[in-house]
Amino acid sequence: MAISDFKRYSMTFGPSPIHKLERLSKHLGGAQIWAKREDVSSGLAFGGNKVRKMEYIVPDIIASGADTLVSIGGYQSNHTRQVAAVAAHLGLKAVLVQENWVDWPDTLNDRVGNIELSRIMGAEVRLDSAGFDIGIRDSWKKALEDVEARGGKPYAIPAGASEHHLGGLGFANWAYEVEQQEKDLGIFFDTIIVCTVTGSTHAGMIAGFAGQEKPRRVIGIDASATLEKTRDQVGRIAKHTAELIGLGRELRDDEINVMEGWAGDLYGIPVESTLNAIRMLGSMEGVILDPVYEGKSMAGLIDLVSSKDIPASSNVLYAHLGGQLALNAYSALFR
Ligand SMILES: *Cc1c(COP(=O)(O)O)cnc(C)c1O
Repeated sequence: MAISDFKRYSMTFGPSPIHKLERLSKHLGGAQIWAKREDVSSGLAFGGNKVRKMEYIVPDIIASGADTLVSIGGYQSNHTRQVAAVAAHLGLKAVLVQENWVDWPDTLNDRVGNIELSRIMGAEVRLDSAGFDIGIRDSWKKALEDVEARGGKPYAIPAGASEHHLGGLGFANWAYEVEQQEKDLGIFFDTIIVCTVTGSTHAGMIAGFAGQEKPRRVIGIDASATLEKTRDQVGRIAKHTAELIGLGRELRDDEINVMEGWAGDLYGIPVESTLNAIRMLGSMEGVILDPVYEGKSMAGLIDLVSSKDIPASSNVLYAHLGGQLALNAYSALFR
């Protein structure tokens, strides 16, 4: 099998755009920094990385004959909002278990941003008081049973679409897309920076890039603050995905590179470096990052480029995975 043997149901406008972050690169005075934009590459409810993952899951959904997508995330989950959008697009129902993953004292946390859009798109939103965990949860098993009990046919999409057997394919293909775009741009990105939490974005990239001729560093910046779980999950999904796409060799441990240091103490709670990164990209580039994911991975990039851990001769590609809608629940930070 190769990646091209898997069916892909298109929900993106085509390859996500790549552009240079000129002023940021100058300001940091080291490596040249570019961004590849998953946040502006789909027309479905502002898109994001989960839409790309689901392009490889939709054929399985359609084949299953399901009428209801069931998924799970935090109150401000970008993933469940994208599941709601995919359901609307396909003419299916969606049941979303939204857990209290982030103890964030904003009274609008369960009303604005992502969750508001999910409701607009007709999803059944179920608030649940359980805390953060990237694993499989009873609450969504219960949701699956409820759909069956009322005569529906559910299709389960786990948190972040990561623990799905096809969950890594979207970003394995991203690696091939990058290779093609590099040819067009006449550039080679020796370092990739990506935010990682439920793991299949980073894992897919690792599997996809592993089959290419020129090696590169694919650095996942942890934003889960539960590093060991995330590292295990990335490793497991990367190996599984590599097998699916016929890599033909075992992934080495040094290819699974999840870095800690920018997540703070808790998932979903920004720290000073997160806010500095958000303000820097906003004021210097007009590029908007969120406080849960991209602000943390960009904080990692800023430090690694500034410290020359990533050498000045490097071309760095920052994967912008979306997530801006959550900013609505964090307005107090920017008053
Ligand atoms: C889900 C998400 C991530 C993390 O991706 P995983 O595949 O869950 O590791 C990063 N950024 C944004 C904006 C996301 O929505």
